[in-house]
Amino acid sequence: MGLDAALKAMDPALDSGGVVRDRAFREAHAIDESEASPVVPEAVVRPRSPTQVAAVLAACHRHGVPVTPRSGGTGRVGGAVPVPGGIVLSMEGMAELKGIEPDDLRVVAGPGRILGELHRAVEAEGLFYPPDPNSWESCRLGGNIAANAGGPRAFKYGVTRNWVLGLQIVTADGTILHVGKPTAKGVTGYDLASLVVGSEGTLAVVTEATLRLIPRPEAVATLLAFLPDERTLGDAIGAVLRARIVPRCLEFLDALALDILRPQAGLDVPGDAKAMLLVEVDGADRDIEQLAETTGSLLLDAGALDVLVAQNEAERERLWGARRQMSRSMRKRARHKLSEDVVVPRSRIGALLATCRRLQETHGVRMPTYGHAGDGNLHVNFLWDDPADRPRVQAAIRGLFEAVVELGGTLSGEHGIGILKAPYLPLEQSPALIALQERIKEVFDPRGVLNPGKIFPAGARRFHGAC
Ligand SMILES: Cc1cc2nc3c(=O)[nH]c(=O)nc-3n(C[C@H](O)[C@H](O)[C@H](O)COP(=O)(O)OP(=O)(O)OC[C@H]3O[C@@H](n4cnc5c(N)ncnc54)[C@H](O)[C@@H]3O)c2cc1C
Repeated sequence: MGLDAALKAMDPALDSGGVVRDRAFREAHAIDESEASPVVPEAVVRPRSPTQVAAVLAACHRHGVPVTPRSGGTGRVGGAVPVPGGIVLSMEGMAELKGIEPDDLRVVAGPGRILGELHRAVEAEGLFYPPDPNSWESCRLGGNIAANAGGPRAFKYGVTRNWVLGLQIVTADGTILHVGKPTAKGVTGYDLASLVVGSEGTLAVVTEATLRLIPRPEAVATLLAFLPDERTLGDAIGAVLRARIVPRCLEFLDALALDILRPQAGLDVPGDAKAMLLVEVDGADRDIEQLAETTGSLLLDAGALDVLVAQNEAERERLWGARRQMSRSMRKRARHKLSEDVVVPRSRIGALLATCRRLQETHGVRMPTYGHAGDGNLHVNFLWDDPADRPRVQAAIRGLFEAVVELGGTLSGEHGIGILKAPYLPLEQSPALIALQERIKEVFDPRGVLNPGKIFPAGARRFHGAC
């Protein structure tokens, strides 16, 4: 690997401080928010413009140096962990908000923009960018696009891919391209923007995004339905949808997850509640009260023990604050935690929960479960204290994945494959499909320098010792 030659070649294009080799700084870029083992990169490079990104990639391509793009570092599958070493390309410095364009209902921003800041900026203009991964205070647009992030509001509004109009990208050899269309419609050529969205930094580096906006809903109401058992979940969701109400969020928490949320959210939970459904509806000011009331009645009729409505913005925020911290709070409950984000068709969510309970009993691992029930997307967690229990956890995870595929589902709804799930990809995808995607990767990145070791089992195996 010609690291020194590559750093020398890119140096004239970069600002001073563009390359950092200080050990503590490199260590801070060795891990994301997953359970992947840390790998310290040889250097962290901090570009400030697309042409600087192009110079870095061209130099790394020429000298065979692996490049791992990184935006907020909140990924859950080790996608930003530089498993082969080389450089981490930190996009934090490219955070410019280039323009909010109300007439065209779009916003243009750099990949380093923190998502929560983007939300606040467009909402101040009466506009709305719906994708809302629960990490929105620290994740950044580049990572959202590369991971095709979802979030609670995806039930009504879809995931990041549905909001991307056009992208500026830099391919592995340093070529700057514009993919997608900055217009509301456009069908010339292949839809390469959609291909780059969700490609986990393996095809190109995103250097600018043009995103679709809509007018901000006037009003929101948040309801909590406490359920006597997990079976009632399907009935409760079905009742709301059959009434032609499309909530923006339908978030589920099982009893173990509810136990964690309860003190933080200051919730008064009925003693016999075994699960909770958080339902959020939005719409016009004049309709919202009636909408909340109808939704509440439907949930009670479907078997909910009690339904609470958040009384004001502070109560809503406390509730969502606790929900957003769920993953981090859960991590404090055990020495070890792994989290999967499987998806099944919504009608099979009861079967998925039953599978989780069976696996919990068979393997003796705590498996608190919560997530975006409206999308059939559950975060199934595995908590354990004794390192010797790891093989049992692995058996439970494999059992979960096999059941999900059997139920017509998929291994990941929003976190991606990264390094952690790569070994399991063949459970869901055929060898021919994996091979086709590997050939696409080769077209974009013939020398394999862009985020190597991610998604595909063969690549991940090369760096197995590192993860
Ligand atoms: C508490 C918590 C809650 C979360 N909740 C959700 C949720 O509700 N929904 C959800 O979808 N996710 C969720 N996540 C996961 C994570 O926040 C998202 O995947 C997020 O989109 C990652 O953004 P990031 O900026 O942190 O990306 P990073 O972790 O920096 O990178 C993620 C991937 O994108 C690649 N990448 C980064 N920047 C670029 C770029 N500019 N060009 C090309 N590739 C790039 C990286 O190489 C890596 O593969 C959660 C995470 C945490 C810690």
